Formats: sequence, C-alpha cells, structure tokens
Amino acid sequence: MRLSRLLSPSSSDLAIDLGTVNTVIYLREKGIVLNEPSVVALETLDGVQRVRAIGAEAKLMLGKTPDAIRTIRPMRDGVIADIDVAEQMIKHFIEKVNGGRNWLSRGPEIVICIPSGATPVERRAIRQATMNAGARKVHLIEESMAAAIGAGLPVAEPIGAMVVDIGGGTTEVAILSLRGLAYSTSVRVGGDRMDDAIASSIRRKHNLMIGEATAEQIKFAIGTALIPEDGVGQEMRVRGRDLLNGVPSEITVNQAEIAQALADLVGQVIEAVLSALEKTEPELAADIFDRGIVMTGGGSLLAGLDTVLSEATGLPVIVAENALTCVATGAGQALDDQVFQGVLTTA
Ligand code: ADP
Ligand code: MG
Repeated sequence: MRLSRLLSPSSSDLAIDLGTVNTVIYLREKGIVLNEPSVVALETLDGVQRVRAIGAEAKLMLGKTPDAIRTIRPMRDGVIADIDVAEQMIKHFIEKVNGGRNWLSRGPEIVICIPSGATPVERRAIRQATMNAGARKVHLIEESMAAAIGAGLPVAEPIGAMVVDIGGGTTEVAILSLRGLAYSTSVRVGGDRMDDAIASSIRRKHNLMIGEATAEQIKFAIGTALIPEDGVGQEMRVRGRDLLNGVPSEITVNQAEIAQALADLVGQVIEAVLSALEKTEPELAADIFDRGIVMTGGGSLLAGLDTVLSEATGLPVIVAENALTCVATGAGQALDDQVFQGVLTTA
C-alpha cells in the first residue's frame, strides 16, 4: 500500500469513467454515485460564453436549443475533443459527487480511464484536466483493464480473457492476462454511429429527418443485430420533419429495416473480434476458448448482438452484469485492491 494511503485512508477517493456518451463515477466505500451524459450546454450572452447546464440537464437540451445555447459533447472517440469544456464538466461532476462540500483540504486521489489507443498527448490532456479539476493525485488505467476487473474476470492470474467494450464512440477489443493487455485494438464503431445509421436509413427510406435523441430511442426500443425471421419484426411510430414539404410528420418503421441499417456496423465489430482472435497466442486462445468473450459498455446491450457474435466466433459470449457501469467499478477496485497494483500508472 502506498505511504500516502497509510497516512490518510480517504473515503473521498474516486474512479472516473469519462465516456464519450456517459460519465460514471465510483466513490470509495459507496460504489457508483454518478452516471450522467457527457454533455455540456454553453450559453453566449453579450458575447460572453458561460456554462448553462451539464450532464442530464444538458442532454435534454440536445437538438432543441435556441441560437444562443450550444450543446456540446467534449469527448469524442473516447478522448478529449474540447479540453476546457471537459475540464469544467469533470469539475462539476466531482463537486456534485461531493455534495457541494469542499474536499478535505487536499482533494481526492482519482483514477481515470483511458482508451488503449490514446496517444501520449491525449493521456496527458486527460490527466491535466483531472488535476485542474481539483484532484490531489491522478492515476490512469486502461479502459479494457477496468472493464475486465469490473466484470469479475481473473486478470490477476495467468489466464487469458477477452473483453469487448462497446461505447458511444469506439469498440475496444482486448485480450488480457496477468494484469496486462496482451493485445488490444480499437475500431471507431459504437452507439453514436448506430444512431447515425438509423437516422440516415429513415431519411433515405421515408424522407423523414429525425434527431439524434429519436434515433437512439428507436435503437433502444426495436434495435437489433438479428434480422427478424418474418422479415418485419416489431413496428414503431416515429416522428420527425418531412423532407419533401418541411412539416412535422409521423411514419412507421419496422425492426427489419433497423436491423439492416445496423448490419454493416455489427459486421465491423465482428471483424475486429475475429482479427483479435487470429492474433492471439495459442495458450491464451485456449483460455478464451474455455471462458468465452465478455462484452461491456452500452453498445453491448443491443438486442441480439451477443448471439450474432457467438455464432460468428463459435465462442460463448456473455454481456457483463452492469454493462454500463462496470468500467468505473473496475477502476475503483483497481484503486482499492492491492491485487491490482501495477495496472495503474501516473504517466
Ligand atoms: P461511453 O463509455 O462511450 O460513454 P457507454 O458504455 O456509456 O458509452 O454506452 C453508451 C452507448 O450505449 C450509447 O450509444 C447508448 O445509446 C448505447 N446503449 C445503451 N443502452 C443500450 C441498449 N439497451 N441497446 C442499445 N444501445 C444501448
Ligand atoms: Mg466506455
């Protein structure tokens, strides 16, 4: 155990999963204490820009704001796209978790997740933003490692395990053993592109323009990786703006057309997994053959995705319990438990 911890075992220490779509915070001794959209609404008044809302409140404004308010998502593809706004967002969330009180003079020790593909510059940016947001000390952890720990995989043992984390911006595929990544790859396919694919399919087929939030609701309600057997599946009424006459309008979409719209992206996830398996050392491959693949992240909840991936690989596929929060939980456990010392870095 680090000396600083012995001197001050602090119950204020945090693990943050700063996702493209959602930020999740784990507080020592409490568990998950925050889960909010990574969205910030900025307002410009008399030429001066200020933060109007952050998180859930800001997401409600997405696509519905007057000219003076702009909603932005400071994280793109898992890394910081807008450093100043990201910093304000992290600071706001940290303060919220702390109930508005000041941190015990020294600020919390924070572990923050980074995607394996992040460059040294991107890692430094995330670290710096977290320091500026009030942290006393910042550790970094690979997101796939955190996901594996959170999903309860035996990463501290010499056993191979495969984790596929499908977030908003990217899909991270990793093979882990003995507290390290034996292989990792990232493809820019995630929930956001699924939403885009749904919106553009509806635009093409029905001449109806829908917003991001509506596309996501369609995905939640009837999205699937499996083409329905009857070629139609469930149906859903969808509202948007008619492209031909410009007025609000309502149409019916069916599950089959949504499955078709998503098929190419689902295929790209499968490709990434197959190519990771091809590059795996035989001993690790044998372990994965026994234990299968664990999926985490919101995208893994797409109906039928586990089935399709299992068919394509011939391996068992399990969606982690708490798929949306297990990265933060795993990062928190890494901070708490000696067994995982060595998966955290400060660089
Ligand atoms: P990130 O880590 O990038 O913030 P998350 O792991 O929080 O991403 O996942 C967010 C994505 O998961 C969003 O695109 C969201 O639409 C999608 N998602 C959440 N629940 C479901 C579901 N039941 N079916 C399909 N997609 C889902
Ligand atoms: Mg994530």
